[in-house]
Amino acid sequence: MKKYNFNAGPCILDRSVIEKTAQAILDFNGIGLSLAEISHRSKDFQPVIDEAEALVKELLEVPEGYSVLFLGGGASLEFCMIPYNFLKKKAAYLNTGVWAKKAMKEAKLFGEVVEVASSADANYTFIPKGWTVPEDADYLHITTNNTIYGTEIRKDLDVPVRLIADMSSDIFSRPVDVSKYDAIYAGAQKNLSMAGVTIVIVKNDALGQAPREIPTMLDYRTHVEKGSMFNTPPVVPIYTAMENLRWMKAQGGVKAMDKLAQQRAEIVYGEIDRNKLFRGTVAEEDRSVMNLCFVMNDEYKELEKDFLDFATSKGMVGVKGHRSVGGFRASCYNAQTIEGCQALVACMKEFEKLH
Ligand SMILES: *Cc1c(COP(=O)(O)O)cnc(C)c1O
Repeated sequence: MKKYNFNAGPCILDRSVIEKTAQAILDFNGIGLSLAEISHRSKDFQPVIDEAEALVKELLEVPEGYSVLFLGGGASLEFCMIPYNFLKKKAAYLNTGVWAKKAMKEAKLFGEVVEVASSADANYTFIPKGWTVPEDADYLHITTNNTIYGTEIRKDLDVPVRLIADMSSDIFSRPVDVSKYDAIYAGAQKNLSMAGVTIVIVKNDALGQAPREIPTMLDYRTHVEKGSMFNTPPVVPIYTAMENLRWMKAQGGVKAMDKLAQQRAEIVYGEIDRNKLFRGTVAEEDRSVMNLCFVMNDEYKELEKDFLDFATSKGMVGVKGHRSVGGFRASCYNAQTIEGCQALVACMKEFEKLH
């Protein structure tokens, strides 16, 4: 049976990207060795990281003066590296979910943290509006897509301070005005690659201003200077990222990814809103086009497990919602197909007929 992968992360990648990675692991570039057993400094690997970097710059139209880094440690390590490198006295954070909260927790180790707004009281079912940022904040940190709750800030905010964003689960799904940001970071395993690499885009001249000593590995300047090769980088995930960036470019880049995301969301949210069994969990204007969260309507609550089993029997994988929201979550990252979304919708329709 054909499987449709709705996992929230690690998640779906285009089959061609997986196949090219598998080939490179068996025999890289026809050199008779595996990608996994050659030096990251070899003449065979250097072009991979160079191309990955160039493609990130091309696809996101990264302006001059920014560096693209490929690091270890996941987005979670960036929660501490960001304030380590950028927090001078005071930073502002928008609390839109568990990941935002974790980022805030780390920042508090380095200075004053102002929570500009929070939707925690409403289990993060909306993006707070109408808040202000202290003009003396060093930066405003936002989580552009809240993977667990299914809300998204799908635009580049206009605020009086520099932006820093965790874009782990929606990077490369839309054009971004990088010039508004001092840093953008993303764990790769949601829209870029397999787990193991984190992409960071930093504004070079914003570095080196924080009034503290920074351990070498946690100092972005180390990785800028060494082209992400201060130590051994995660070569296989970087290779997969390069292949995936090539794939995205061939599809028409981030504009095409954006269009596809809107189409997928229309199909799935359309059915959530139409079908009497289901309802969406978040404010309509804040709905994520990456993680589409929904639950059974109150009068059908007891059918939740049945639907999950039914969907699983039809080849749907990973549609169970996160435990802090319940219900269902259809993650529709870049490689998610229209066909996959239609298959899920067909499943929802069929289940409705049965009840
Ligand atoms: C998954 C996720 C993270 C955590 O990423 P790791 O790479 O596992 O540390 C952080 N932020 C967001 C928005 C995420 O979706």
